[in-house]
Amino acid sequence: MKAMVLKKLCNLKENKSPLELVDMPVPVEAEDEILVKVSACGVCHTEIDEIEGRTPPSKFPVILGHQIIGRVEKMGSKANKFMIGDRVGIAWIHSACGKCTFCHEGRENLCDEFKATGRDAEGGYAEYTTVSEKFAYKIPEIFSDAQAAPLLCAGAIGYRSLKLAMIEDGKNIGFTGFGASAHLVIKMVKHLYPHSRVFVFSRTEREREFAKELGAFWAGNSEDESPEKLHCVIDTTPVWKPVVDVMKNVEKGGRLVINAIRKEEVDKDALLTIDYPRDIWMEKEIKSVANITKKDVEEFLQLAALIPIRPDVQEFKLEEANKALMELKERKIRGAKVLKIG
Ligand SMILES: [Zn+2]
Ligand SMILES: [Zn+2]
Repeated sequence: MKAMVLKKLCNLKENKSPLELVDMPVPVEAEDEILVKVSACGVCHTEIDEIEGRTPPSKFPVILGHQIIGRVEKMGSKANKFMIGDRVGIAWIHSACGKCTFCHEGRENLCDEFKATGRDAEGGYAEYTTVSEKFAYKIPEIFSDAQAAPLLCAGAIGYRSLKLAMIEDGKNIGFTGFGASAHLVIKMVKHLYPHSRVFVFSRTEREREFAKELGAFWAGNSEDESPEKLHCVIDTTPVWKPVVDVMKNVEKGGRLVINAIRKEEVDKDALLTIDYPRDIWMEKEIKSVANITKKDVEEFLQLAALIPIRPDVQEFKLEEANKALMELKERKIRGAKVLKIG
């Protein structure tokens, strides 16, 4: 099969083609696994973090990609959740131990043995992949393959971040950055919390315009003071300054949820400008969202079909994965980038 593989960590400023097209054997499914013929795989900023070593793969070479849509091609001897030909999705969570306290509490996203698709296990930048049937999901029919792919990470983790933000209808919510995840989360907010106002902070005019098209009440620069205080904020930027900048706008007792697997080091100095009385005092909270649970993915797919959320997607061929990644790195974003495969 064809696959785009990462053989070693690299700096994308120096190497703009980190992935190599290779021909390799089709993987063989274990007894509890399904073999999936991949038709679409979303391209995520986390892949850039993997390539540049902020969340390095645990093996090389590795096939990246964790927003996978495909069809069941074969099943292991103990797999019976799906039928051959069923359309399934695979998300960031590839497996967890199933035995620890976190797993028993439905918080397998925090399991010590959490394994990520396209980082610790082979992902979807390829024609085939395998996964335990427990971590594959039926995809609602209303979505095309390309539309469904970005729902599996940007959408599902966005849904988790919205839960952690503890928003209530009528309360203000902010977004710092307005890329693939935020443009899906704003649609959930409009549906679930119709009386809430959305405030977007972005350094690019294009993202601010896009936010307003999608119903943001206000959109400004990341340094700006918002016209109203915010009860919660979801940060989807890869850097620190927007986090520090937005805290002055957070209401007393409000919270900021950082939806980023790693932050870049370039502007870490910005943290030294945090002003405790202005930014943290009065019970303001800062927390992160980590990984994803099975339940998040399942709930979110149902919600997405109900609303419905149809992500705006930009399609690339498998062989163009490097191009898609570089455009994402350079923040040429309007909607979500998806590799169409096969
Ligand atoms: Zn992702
Ligand atoms: Zn566990």
